[in-house]
Amino acid sequence: MDHLTPQQRHKNMAAIHNKNTKPEMIVRRGLWKRGFRYRLNHKRLPGHPDLVFRKYRTCIFINGCFWHGHLVDSKTMESSVCCKIPTTNHDFWVAKIRRNKERDKEEQRKLAEMGWHCITVWECELKPKQREQTLDSIAFTVNHIWLQDHGAKSISLPQLEEKDMKMPMAAEADD
Ligand SMILES: [Zn+2]
Repeated sequence: MDHLTPQQRHKNMAAIHNKNTKPEMIVRRGLWKRGFRYRLNHKRLPGHPDLVFRKYRTCIFINGCFWHGHLVDSKTMESSVCCKIPTTNHDFWVAKIRRNKERDKEEQRKLAEMGWHCITVWECELKPKQREQTLDSIAFTVNHIWLQDHGAKSISLPQLEEKDMKMPMAAEADD
């Protein structure tokens, strides 16, 4: 790396950075294409979600499988297919990944308390073969959340009306 000029190094770093944000771009483009509009990195929300759908009161986190310990049991902290915990400095990595997992959980708990729904998308779910299916399922989930939040109210209305209907009927009988 030392033979690189500052410009070359900068370009290199930028390329690495872009590569790191690629999963986020896949989700952004995929959901935009499916008609969803969102805000990016809502800084005031716990955990700074990658995407925020205000209309749906839903946050999306796009998690790297290694850093967030995908499929790693919090108790045993054994490596999974998605997250191979290095054998060198093993304890350090276990502690680090465990902390990340705990933080993720805590942030989502806070968001839930504030009335937000959270969707976690894992990097492995965005591999070319699974990508479209994953994006469809996010779109489905977001729509489902909206229906649950808004549909429940319209279901309870006819029940109220039915109860209210009894009063005028009773009044009618008295006549
Ligand atoms: Zn994974």
